[in-house]
Amino acid sequence: MPLKNDGIMVILSSPSGVGKTTLVKLLSKRKNFKISVSHTTRKPRESEVPNKDYFFVDDIEFKRLIQNEEFLEYAKVFNHLYGTTRSPIISNLQKGKNVIFDIDWQGADQIKNKKLDYKLITFFLLPPSKKILFKRLSNRDMKDKLIAEKRMKEFSRDMLHWINYDYVIINDNLEDCYKKIDSLIDAELNDGPKDYDNEYIRKHIEKLTF
Ligand code: ADP
Ligand code: 5GP
Repeated sequence: MPLKNDGIMVILSSPSGVGKTTLVKLLSKRKNFKISVSHTTRKPRESEVPNKDYFFVDDIEFKRLIQNEEFLEYAKVFNHLYGTTRSPIISNLQKGKNVIFDIDWQGADQIKNKKLDYKLITFFLLPPSKKILFKRLSNRDMKDKLIAEKRMKEFSRDMLHWINYDYVIINDNLEDCYKKIDSLIDAELNDGPKDYDNEYIRKHIEKLTF
């Protein structure tokens, strides 16, 4: 059982470009959540700061971490390896700090299956439409339009995993989306009423996957 003063874990997943990173940063800034900084073998984007956005490592170092069993979870995503090391997470949770993860469905599944002694809340984010998602991806990955196209191709496959999450949230207006996540976390922690319209979400998923 989680201890009363332990921190909680919140996972945000979504198809690429929906806005996980943006929302993770907002939650960290406004709610003082600790961001779980992942290791990856992908190259940094221009805007990314090493050791803050990711620990950028090569394949050899990543495999060493796997062999040393340092990962809480790891997975191959878009041909690169991504993983969360265990010790900083546990150390923060034990100090009563809440930790937020921007990880894919494979990582979310692995953490869920570990059944750790800490409360876990999982969110799957959706774009308002595929057109808007492509725009967001193209704006972010300006230099390489192929990346945006490649990631759009993964969209339908990524979408399949919404079913395994506690909540599915549409990231249309950023502030509204933030408020929804914030209020659901508060409701979970305080056993309060949840403002969550299952039917509306189901219809939106049908539209996106049609
Ligand atoms: P992810 O981490 O899910 O791949 P990002 O957080 O990097 O996505 O967001 C992709 C792009 O979309 C970024 O340029 C970001 O600024 C923008 N973005 C995120 N959320 C919104 C939103 N609600 N409205 C408009 N643009 C957004
Ligand atoms: P990006 O390259 O756009 O930063 O991330 C690509 C995908 O990898 C996203 O779905 C992101 O959530 C996921 N990801 C980032 N870090 C991790 C991690 O540590 N573990 C797993 N399983 N996925 C991650």
